[in-house]
Amino acid sequence: MQQKLQRAILVNVIPHESDKKEAMAEFDELVRLVETYGGMVILKILQKRGRPSASTFLGEGKAHEVGQLVKDMKADVVIVNGFLKPNQSNNLVNIIPCEVLDRFEMILKIFEKHAQTPEAKLQLQIAYNKYEFPKLFGKGAALSQQAAGMAARSAVSTAGGKRAARGPGEKILEVKRRHLRSQIQTLGKKLQQFRKVRELQRERRKRQDFFTIALVGYTNSGKSSLMRALTKKKNILVENKLFSTLDTRLGEVYMEGSGKRKILLADTIGFIQNLPPLLFSSFLATLDEVKEADLLLHVIDISNPKTAEQIKVVDDILDKLGCAEKPRIYVFNKIDACNPSGIAVFKQMYNTFPAVFVSALLEQNLDDLLAEIRKRLPVHV
Ligand code: GDP
Ligand code: MG
Repeated sequence: MQQKLQRAILVNVIPHESDKKEAMAEFDELVRLVETYGGMVILKILQKRGRPSASTFLGEGKAHEVGQLVKDMKADVVIVNGFLKPNQSNNLVNIIPCEVLDRFEMILKIFEKHAQTPEAKLQLQIAYNKYEFPKLFGKGAALSQQAAGMAARSAVSTAGGKRAARGPGEKILEVKRRHLRSQIQTLGKKLQQFRKVRELQRERRKRQDFFTIALVGYTNSGKSSLMRALTKKKNILVENKLFSTLDTRLGEVYMEGSGKRKILLADTIGFIQNLPPLLFSSFLATLDEVKEADLLLHVIDISNPKTAEQIKVVDDILDKLGCAEKPRIYVFNKIDACNPSGIAVFKQMYNTFPAVFVSALLEQNLDDLLAEIRKRLPVHV
């Protein structure tokens, strides 16, 4: 898990009838994930196939081809833009002479690299252990067969040979599973304690009468930049990388008319499409801030070709968090990088919503945003 990624080959299987250009575009997010991790993509390979091979994901011939390419191009890692079953992953590793990851493992690696607080690290470890768990189940059969082979060879003349055939592999695995299970429980308890502390902190803030605003939005939409622009604090990590904010960060804003009451801004981790449910639940703790917030700023990258889809992903996650009814301002960001007709489309589409169009980078139209926020402050502040 600690190894650094360098030269990556991306692969995927698509149905015969699909459009190759579109399928290539689906690699974009994975490319950004790889770059976020500090690697570079040297090749993208699509295989048209009825469905992924049950044993090797790519067809076996294709897998060997990729293996050869890895050697020729000196690749360090092959990443499947999908999710590998344990046996697929085991078989691919035997064919391809470098590390083979799937999307889940790639995301885990990035989370791991960026986890800063003990809480974030703990959440990761839980996600990782939970991910290992089914993998061990999958490996059970293979390991048992190996063990059975050894047992059969050594006990060939004894009558006990057959019974031994089911034993040793399963036993080792059972111990491993039990260990993982208890580890997950212990980590879970620790995480509960962290959450309690956070809860207490939040309650204290409430008692002190803070008005909390949470920045939510797709990864890379400009949440941290906006937070920085609003708080004028230059110590928030801003990077052109997905997930560069893994932990919730808080900042304070002083607003004219907000009286004695302080406004707290909470930056959050980015949302991403197809986030594996296992990871999603591990990160719920950091999203507590979102659930507790008085107001949400949904930050949107308007310069992205997939703006509309990204808005939907975030809206859906907010619904799942039970935040459907929470007051929300749509903050269309990066207007400096978008042509006027693109902006006009969203202005029209969102004319019945509270929506503002800003550039966090150039600090454009931030007053519009502050005015919208002010409208939503409780009257007594
Ligand atoms: P986050 O993942 O949502 O926190 O996004 P960041 O604040 O880290 O920003 C991601 C990238 O978008 C960085 O390279 C920023 O410089 C860039 N960015 C943020 N706001 C703007 C903007 O208004 N205009 C442009 N052109 N780029 C921006
Ligand atoms: Mg950020």
